[in-house]
Amino acid sequence: MPNSEIESFVLAALEAAGATLEPLGYSLTDALLPEDLATKLGGAPLLRLTFDSEVAQEDPDAVLVTYGHPLVDSLVEHTLTQRRGFQLYSDLTPDACGLSPDRALNLLNRAVTFQHARPPQFRSSQYILASELSVGFRVRYQSATRVEEFINVWVDAEGTILGDVGPIYTQQPWTFRLPAQWAKVPFTPPDPVDQILTKARAHAEGEAAKRAQEMFASDRAQYDSERARTIAYYEQTMNDLKTKAKTADDTRRDTLDGRYQAALADRDRRLADLENAYTVHHEVFWDYMAWHVFPKLIVSFTVQSRDRQLSVDALYNPLTRTLEPPRCGQCGNPAQDLSWRRTVWVGACCRRER
Ligand SMILES: [Zn+2]
Repeated sequence: MPNSEIESFVLAALEAAGATLEPLGYSLTDALLPEDLATKLGGAPLLRLTFDSEVAQEDPDAVLVTYGHPLVDSLVEHTLTQRRGFQLYSDLTPDACGLSPDRALNLLNRAVTFQHARPPQFRSSQYILASELSVGFRVRYQSATRVEEFINVWVDAEGTILGDVGPIYTQQPWTFRLPAQWAKVPFTPPDPVDQILTKARAHAEGEAAKRAQEMFASDRAQYDSERARTIAYYEQTMNDLKTKAKTADDTRRDTLDGRYQAALADRDRRLADLENAYTVHHEVFWDYMAWHVFPKLIVSFTVQSRDRQLSVDALYNPLTRTLEPPRCGQCGNPAQDLSWRRTVWVGACCRRER
């Protein structure tokens, strides 16, 4: 399990580049490189990598990889040329991303209700650089026919699966370098990449399973008719055996019973084989990822609740032009209905009304 950003990136990039990885222990991995990458990295096809200086001391064969190591640079370069796992920056101007106080209030009022409070007031807004990840998966379905499909999952820096923002985001101007207009905006670092990828992958697996079900459903009529035919055939055979057993002597009846049991087992096996043949198996492969780094606005509002002046923040996404609702202070989920409890805003999710 990768335990640092650099380890996540290096292992993910190596895997994406076609390397075979063999984890050997804590922060220690053997990587068998594809020929083109090995040549680019100096020739050795097998590298033992560690990301921990203590492990490096214990194993003199291990290469200690850290920020700025030539391997990292080569991988970034390789990743860029392969168009896998690269970073894109929004080239929008701050003007194009702005939000007027009226519009901010309008969006907030549509998104959230505050209990026991006066209507909120706009206070201030501040840009931050947020990052959202687009992760591509290749799915191979295997049944009577073999099909491949792509699933693209958008996920934010906390691992929350986003809706279908692809059509909106891909229309935006993106650049490979951080544009000067955003250089001084504070950057919110994402959660560790492997955690985000795990969530994106789980989502892709779910989508693929749904798709496999649909494929199965489309072959359903044929499956049902083959199944009915199989059942009818064995029913005939087994009824014959039963009829014969009624008039048979004891020895003969034992033989017929044995044949009956064998036919039953045979039928069940054929039905299981049939089901297996029609079930659509699927495998999900990680293919690429692209960080989309762009400004969001932290919008602060003042809310007067009973006799207290309180503050609440919401995040405005200028690409989708939507306000992400404030989060419940207790569970962290987006909340549409907030009430002040001692020190935090709590959503309906976490409170029991008296
Ligand atoms: Zn909650």
